Amino acid sequence: MIPYGRQDISEQDIQAVVDVLRSNTLTQGPAVTHFERAMAAYCGASHALAVCNATAALHLACLALGLGKGDILWTASNTFAASSNCALYCGAAIDFVDIDPRTYNMSVAALEHKLQVAERDGCLPKILIPVHFTGQSCQMREIKALADRYGFKIIEDASHAIGGKYRGEPVGNCRYSDISVFSFHPVKIITTGEGGLLLTNDAELSSRLDLLRSHGIERDPSRFVGDDHSPWMLEMQMLGYNYRMTDMQAALGTSQLRRLDGFVASRHALVARYNTGLAGLPLTLPWQDADCFSAFHLYMVRLDLTCIRRTRREVFDGLRQAGIYAHVHYNPVHLHPYYREMGFKPGDFPETEQYHREAITLPMYSSLSINDQDHVISTLKKLVL
Ligand SMILES: *Cc1c(COP(=O)(O)O)cnc(C)c1O
Repeated sequence: MIPYGRQDISEQDIQAVVDVLRSNTLTQGPAVTHFERAMAAYCGASHALAVCNATAALHLACLALGLGKGDILWTASNTFAASSNCALYCGAAIDFVDIDPRTYNMSVAALEHKLQVAERDGCLPKILIPVHFTGQSCQMREIKALADRYGFKIIEDASHAIGGKYRGEPVGNCRYSDISVFSFHPVKIITTGEGGLLLTNDAELSSRLDLLRSHGIERDPSRFVGDDHSPWMLEMQMLGYNYRMTDMQAALGTSQLRRLDGFVASRHALVARYNTGLAGLPLTLPWQDADCFSAFHLYMVRLDLTCIRRTRREVFDGLRQAGIYAHVHYNPVHLHPYYREMGFKPGDFPETEQYHREAITLPMYSSLSINDQDHVISTLKKLVL
């Protein structure tokens, strides 16, 4: 069976975790700080905060930016449900922006239009979450200009995009956003088993995120708001959570980070082979914006169903029968039953829905062998010709 994505763990990665297990600290220790510093340096952001997963990171980012009841958050519907669920955790309302038909990222034109209407109707969003789908950055410069014009905050859901670049700079540097979020789930580009990271250049936001990820409890007496400075005093200053990352996870993360550029290079080599092997078929291959260097978390094709004699389902089943565990990213969030109950319905985001009807995600991971990739290419070829 060839999965659509999988982790790549070396003996050195394993040793890094074992070293922590033999040390004195399993959580809130030096490995977490070390990982955070390495990530901040890699991305060129001032502050990095490791947490238990990206879903928690998105929740904390919304809380730290003050999202609550009566507020509105917008994101894309072509994403994993976590990108929008974070708004609901905070009691805020959710809405979506349709995608660009070439990049499958949030469309800047659709965003601008929706903002004009929302301004007129008095229902502008407080936060926008652009999702860097498949690892290709959204058009952040244009989105930031709209944020300045309409007064919303930006959280980049960069779960797919670690190791990618936008306009020559690392994704995650927050040049065009308030906070960026990465995921380290095993299907993502580097892994900590479960794990997430927040990056920001705002010191105030960083300390709020730090408190929120650990019960809202302040340990540093110089930051206490009350008078009790007894040596045993820890001050709970806001309602937080336990969203911490362990030192075992962080040590794995630091070890994986050393291999990140190599992982991304392998993914680019695989992309080049897919692009050559699948050229000339009734498929739309991933389109790359000249401003972007994608991390290529995912490789997807769009089937030209007017030329192909099979349905998408038949192509999909044909791949699975050949041992190729293809996938579809994503079932539009607004069409999940939970979201339909809020009033979303088919037709609300036509580009997202059209893309979803035609998309298939092919296997893509740094250790995918040439033989396995050739099997994917030849099987797909047979199915669409
Ligand atoms: C994986 C993913 C998440 C959630 O990440 P977890 O670490 O599993 O919580 C959020 N958004 C996107 C776009 C993702 O791909």
